[in-house]
Amino acid sequence: MTARIIDGKHIAAELRGKVTDAVHRMLRDRGLVPGLAVVLVGQNPASEVYVRNKSKAVTEAGMRPHDHHLPASTSEAALLELVAKLNADPAVNGILVQLPLPEQIDAQKVIAAIDPAKDVDGFHPVNAGKLASGLPALVPCTPLGCIMLAKKVHASLAGLEAVVIGRSNIVGKPVAQLLLAENATVTIAHSKTVDLPSVCRRADVLVAAIGKPEMVRRDWIKPGATVIDVGINRVAGEGGKTRIVGDVAAEVSQVAGALTPVPGGVGPMTIACLLANTLRAACMQHGLPAPNIGS
Ligand code: NDP
Repeated sequence: MTARIIDGKHIAAELRGKVTDAVHRMLRDRGLVPGLAVVLVGQNPASEVYVRNKSKAVTEAGMRPHDHHLPASTSEAALLELVAKLNADPAVNGILVQLPLPEQIDAQKVIAAIDPAKDVDGFHPVNAGKLASGLPALVPCTPLGCIMLAKKVHASLAGLEAVVIGRSNIVGKPVAQLLLAENATVTIAHSKTVDLPSVCRRADVLVAAIGKPEMVRRDWIKPGATVIDVGINRVAGEGGKTRIVGDVAAEVSQVAGALTPVPGGVGPMTIACLLANTLRAACMQHGLPAPNIGS
């Protein structure tokens, strides 16, 4: 058996198309253009690529980017001042501060300073708490994308055994909350989990968010399971070039029923969900109904 490949690029393009249509309708009917502020501090090369891609996607969706690139020496006070300005700016509907931040800045303090209504990354404790309480919230983008991909395979996740490897606030925990909200039976595994392979073999849906290249092997997989690979790991490839691999080994496709590729799986969904969250935030702030974009 060879697993069906879940085409994240295609599914993300569909979502981006729906967001773009909704943004055009918002402009036509209300004269409003959603705005997203992306804040980058320093010159982390991976972050620079992410931020560039995000701003480009915002423009392509018909929204307005507000880019702020600050030097690596920026103080915590200066960043908090910028966040306060963006919180107060009615043209800015979403605020994203790219992580990681330089060591002189406390990331938790900065996240907590963002207006929860503009927290399109969904990392603010208010949004995390709402998600955990089953209340409407701005939900982290990568986890949202994971659930959308899993639902392309399973119309309903109710009653399925789901295992999430990883418990970060950015991916593992919110993915687990979303799976629970979909009525899956959820196990969260982490570095202290005993006999991880046998825990994973229970999973109808396995989400790997570990950050360890190709750690999940074929004998960890229940035959026919759906495997969502969140990992983005840079490893040495041929001729000294780096190549990107996920947390799941390619051999898993021999056992799984469906699998997300890396690249081209969860990654593109993250940006599409960021656009969807920005639109959602703009609608909330203008007292409009939630956009009907199917996410
Ligand atoms: P973190 O490092 O914050 O969390 C990793 C989690 O994996 C931790 O909970 C850790 O457990 C667990 N873990 C580490 N080693 C093991 C092990 N040997 N066995 C079991 N569990 C283990 O990473 P993130 O959650 O931020 O990211 C995870 C991956 O997803 C990374 O590769 C990252 O690049 C990628 N990513 C991809 C995105 C996308 O858009 N596709 C977006 C965000 C992240 P413990 O808590 O016990 O330490």
